[in-house]
Amino acid sequence: MRYVLQVPQLLIIEDDARIRSLLMRALDERGYAVSSAATGMAGLSEVVDRRPDLVVLDLGLPDVDGTEVLAMIRAVSQVPIIIASARDDEPSLLRALDSGADDYVIKPFTAAQLEARIRAVLRRAGGSSKLPNVVVVGDLEIDVRARRTTLAGEKIELSPKEFELLAYLAGRAGEVVTKRELLTDVWQQSYGGPDKTVDVHLSWLRRKLGETADRPRYLQAVRGVGVRLAAPET
Ligand code: CA
Repeated sequence: MRYVLQVPQLLIIEDDARIRSLLMRALDERGYAVSSAATGMAGLSEVVDRRPDLVVLDLGLPDVDGTEVLAMIRAVSQVPIIIASARDDEPSLLRALDSGADDYVIKPFTAAQLEARIRAVLRRAGGSSKLPNVVVVGDLEIDVRARRTTLAGEKIELSPKEFELLAYLAGRAGEVVTKRELLTDVWQQSYGGPDKTVDVHLSWLRRKLGETADRPRYLQAVRGVGVRLAAPET
């Protein structure tokens, strides 16, 4: 069975550049894959193009009112939406919730508060989530929700990006994944020629898994193609 396993993809629609970059950084550090849009219409096309797992939507946007953006998103997608707004007046929030928003946070809020809502909404939305809880590859156990990795029962400390990379490879365990795919899916970067980012993170991950490129175990390089996560041959 092939299942897709990725860290949740979030889309932040927010016109305030400062709030946007704060949230992006905070949520990225917490291991989410985050993209953003500064206007309602850009946000709508991101929803269509990227199919995020959850949208954080500001109500006060420069081009189209957030409640209208919400309606437009709902016309094309059932993606969970959390309203983030300075408008703490009941009517606009009630209207947003009536129009299909899943939850809301009132500005100012902390990244931790927002993340708690994100987790709750994703949990509610994802009864049949595409994310399996735990992927086991040989002695390697990757608990995606708890963000915990163990090798032969020993906990391995990974940086958020290392974990994201490993979780992505685990979701496609046994399959060769190209560096271009990793750059696009894990780093959300379009491929612009040789890039050391993937190689550097793979070598860090290798070190933490106690292996080297010369003596690979779980991270098996396929020359000229990419890398495959698989149980070491015994
Ligand atoms: Ca705003």
